Amino acid sequence: MISFEKAQEKLHSLALTHKKSLHQHEVNLDQACSQVSSKNIYAEEYHPAFNNSSMDGFAIKAQDSVGASLAEPSSLTIVGESSAGKPWDHTLQPNQACRIMTGAKVPKGSDAVIKVEDVEEVDGKIQLRQSTLPNTNIRSKGEDLKPGDLLVAKGTRLTAEDIMLLASQGKNRLKVSQAIRVAIISTGQEILEHDANAPQPALGEIRNSTGPFLRSKLMHLPCEIVSQVSCSDHPEELFSQISKALDLGSDIIISTGGVSAGKYDLIPGMVSDLRGTILFHKVSMKPGKPILVANFSKKKPCTFFGLPGNPISTLVGFNFFVETYLRHLTEQARLKPVKAFLNQEISTPRGLTTLLRSRVEVSDDALLTAEVCQGQGSHMMTSLKAYNAWLKIDKGHDVVKKGSFVDAYLLGQDHSFLF
Ligand code: AMP
Ligand code: MG
Repeated sequence: MISFEKAQEKLHSLALTHKKSLHQHEVNLDQACSQVSSKNIYAEEYHPAFNNSSMDGFAIKAQDSVGASLAEPSSLTIVGESSAGKPWDHTLQPNQACRIMTGAKVPKGSDAVIKVEDVEEVDGKIQLRQSTLPNTNIRSKGEDLKPGDLLVAKGTRLTAEDIMLLASQGKNRLKVSQAIRVAIISTGQEILEHDANAPQPALGEIRNSTGPFLRSKLMHLPCEIVSQVSCSDHPEELFSQISKALDLGSDIIISTGGVSAGKYDLIPGMVSDLRGTILFHKVSMKPGKPILVANFSKKKPCTFFGLPGNPISTLVGFNFFVETYLRHLTEQARLKPVKAFLNQEISTPRGLTTLLRSRVEVSDDALLTAEVCQGQGSHMMTSLKAYNAWLKIDKGHDVVKKGSFVDAYLLGQDHSFLF
């Protein structure tokens, strides 16, 4: 059995080796959301591309508004119109105004825009009733982006917001990490497959809940599911399913169940029979202790994650091992905990890294506070509705006092890691 930290280090090193065998490929911008950029992407254009108006109104020379007041308005002659996409191509002269719409190019000679609400328009002229400073209501060329500015850093998982930014710069083809090929094997003779025609479970049968979970998680990651099967705890069947997954050229195989010490826990033996190198088996953590990670290098490198079968053990294994490995593989930022103020005293098993489903809130005085969810058994799923963070209590603590600051890994709305 190795420590949580040691296991993470080994996983990181393995990812660094496997990274070399992964390719990059090009996709169109509309296919790029959720993929990981394998390059720094820089702006090549100014944004805004030209000085334009942030208001509907009149482009003027600020100088012409000096001294204007309600009692003594300045009168300017309207000489043209600039609308979005249809600029007025002349130079504004003193005492002239050009009607202008939001987003339209500010004409040469003009250095301010006065809002339509702030002027009175009579007989082809506007009456200014207040003075205006230069640059008022003008968005200047390049104030947002200039050529050479970094738009997206290498290793960024692209969001819809990134797509907006890239689209604004005319980026059509992007280099992204190749989709990671994943095979899922749910093991256990008691497992009843999840499908519309599944019968009621007979006594002792268990519905496959983690198979659909893994599939759903992977669908939101830069992965391609190459196969998903369930398999009884039968050596030949298991052997054949793992072999098939390897033959499919999987980059990752995730199995659930069958990695502890029971008579039917066949995964460790099968991995060895198939000439996998076991990186570690059993990590001093709770839940998910029996986890196994191995490395195959038959035709191409393949990392095998043997996750224990209880739903929360599978979840921990997925979050802290599979997902973390994927982050390393695609050069995304490493997971980063924040410190949260523990709202209660808790006891954790001495010697094990404990991962607790928790609710982190922001207090009125901007402190992150953590409450551990009820029902922490590795078979208990109700806390999944309430939790928004994993608390990680390092080994060596049996009682953690209320008011301690503990490591919290925050999760977003889709329960993927925030940092
Ligand atoms: P195992 O890791 O095979 O010893 O399984 C541990 C527990 O998890 C057992 O109670 C299994 O029935 C349960 N289990 C295994 N696989 C699944 C699954 N795919 N979905 C839900 N529960 C499972
Ligand atoms: Mg089993």
